[in-house]
Amino acid sequence: MIASDVETGIARLRELIAAASVIVPFTGAGISTECGIPDFRSPGGIWTKNQPILFDEFLASQEMRNEAWRRRFAMEEHFGNARPGRGHLALASLYRAGKAPGVVTQNIDNLHQSSGISPDDVVELHGNNTYAVCLSCAKRYELSWVKERFSASEQAPDCPDCDGHIKSATVSFGQAMPEAAMQRAEDMTRSCDLFLAIGSSLVVWPAAGFPLMAKRNGARLVILNRDATEFDDVADLVVHDDIGTVLSPFIAH
Ligand SMILES: [Zn+2]
Repeated sequence: MIASDVETGIARLRELIAAASVIVPFTGAGISTECGIPDFRSPGGIWTKNQPILFDEFLASQEMRNEAWRRRFAMEEHFGNARPGRGHLALASLYRAGKAPGVVTQNIDNLHQSSGISPDDVVELHGNNTYAVCLSCAKRYELSWVKERFSASEQAPDCPDCDGHIKSATVSFGQAMPEAAMQRAEDMTRSCDLFLAIGSSLVVWPAAGFPLMAKRNGARLVILNRDATEFDDVADLVVHDDIGTVLSPFIAH
């Protein structure tokens, strides 16, 4: 059912949330646009202006690693000061109320963690852009550490422990999906009785697989997205409206 207007959508969503025991929210770029985080893949997004650096290129070339870090620091104006939006706060409220065990996200902006959901309960399918890791020994590095060294030498630093390359903790194009996160996302999807797909066009694999997985497993499916998705027909509720507006009534004060 596609809600005829936002009030009807909110009222129906309220009923579905009240009736659910285990809610799994699945979020995409649309939940973070009101926080000033650009939707990288959308027309005009950063990745349509800059050719993305493929994982193999990052591994193969110091110059590509330098370029990757140059771009990351240039994005700091978007990521550095971003605060959770109304959608994040509503989901954190469901989490605190014990209705949602966590959240599965395609986003790399750390805003679910900032909204109060434990990092252990945020399943990140595309990693996290707010810190870095050594690709060889998996040691974590803060961006400030990388920036200090990069500023001094204009060279992307390698790991002092093992000489491995240090990369932002995101999943790059051409890089394998994180298996543990994928498995957890699948387990959570199968355990829920209400699946909320929020701000994702649900086009790109693996995002496209989860709504149907939930639905086949007997869960209700809600899609909140500005634009139509190809799963609108099978969803129990679809609201094509601003995500912050739809979810703000669910923020617990
Ligand atoms: Zn290392």
